[in-house]
Amino acid sequence: MARLAEHPAEVVGEPAALGAGRALDRHDHPPLRVDPRDLACEFAQRLDPRRRLQFHIVRSPLRLIHLVQPPASRHPSRPAGLARRSYHRGVPRPAEIADVLVAWFPDAARPLPWRAAEAGPWGVLVSEFMLQQTQVSRVEPRWREWMTRWPTPADLAAAPPAEAVRAWDRLGYPRRALWLHEAATEIVERHGGAVPRDLDALLALKGVGPYTARAVAAFAFGERHPVVDTNTRRVLARAVVGQGEPWPPAAARDLREMSAVLPDDPAAARVVNAAAMELGATVCTARAPRCDDCPIADLCAWRAAGYPAYEGPSKAKQAKFEGSDRQLRGMVMRELRASHRPIARDGLDGLTPDGARLDRILASLVADGLAAVESDGYRLP
Ligand code: SF4
Repeated sequence: MARLAEHPAEVVGEPAALGAGRALDRHDHPPLRVDPRDLACEFAQRLDPRRRLQFHIVRSPLRLIHLVQPPASRHPSRPAGLARRSYHRGVPRPAEIADVLVAWFPDAARPLPWRAAEAGPWGVLVSEFMLQQTQVSRVEPRWREWMTRWPTPADLAAAPPAEAVRAWDRLGYPRRALWLHEAATEIVERHGGAVPRDLDALLALKGVGPYTARAVAAFAFGERHPVVDTNTRRVLARAVVGQGEPWPPAAARDLREMSAVLPDDPAAARVVNAAAMELGATVCTARAPRCDDCPIADLCAWRAAGYPAYEGPSKAKQAKFEGSDRQLRGMVMRELRASHRPIARDGLDGLTPDGARLDRILASLVADGLAAVESDGYRLP
């Protein structure tokens, strides 16, 4: 499998791909160090000498070569084998941040179904539609149902749009269901039923914006693209820029900041994209970052600066949901989803005493394509 060399070396690359974690007893099998160029595995052909991760290489009783992380450091969350490093004179260390994230992610990642290889590009695309503005815990059961019912774009394209809206259930922003249905139809018509890999082709699909296109290209196809969501933006703002709050979403800045962190190797870049999101979702949260458990705590610019108060522009406050038009739209949609026949206008009177407001909401739902009017009332499209 590999030719052993005499010289000590570091092995570089993605721990999962390298097989790290299959720890053997290092005392029974003392570490053998090899030059990574001698590793006759496919991954070794793609090693990038600038991405250095330290792993010990040991020989198993079967004389196979395994890569294992050295013993855990004192810090419970710091990936084993990575030396304690500090933030240097206010200069962010994006490359080191990437190294740490690559080592941290395999053990820290939540086992989300769309991350499994069998989810495929369609599963990734569906998850990205659903995850826009909706929490993972609410998305997961819907995603599983959706993928069971419509395992390919062609399956969804063959269903009526009303069924897509009904299956969307209460994920919110139901126009996403219509867009996903339309995107599935476009995938069938333009790409023979296979989710395209090309960024421009992805961007041309209904409902697919710059974030979703890059996420699908990166996570489904392994292309090297910076993928920046709200969680990533917050991690970058804190760890790299040194401010407590993220900047407002801005494609150019998002891409610039994340590009500075991404390794050149596409496989490692894919992991860093996912790891930055995961870190923002589970550790570096908006209200209560758990810095003691953070793998990049020693590299974090905001922490090193003593957590200065944020002085940038404040975020626009989200309007109250209770009593809002958005809430009433949701109530109307719930009635339409539950009924398989048109609902007369007066059948919806009980939703609000304000008839003019209800008419306005119904008109907006029709304009958005989420409801259709018939002689006997309103129904899903
Ligand atoms: S050290 Fe704290 S603020 Fe900095 S990235 Fe980690 S969790 Fe976020």
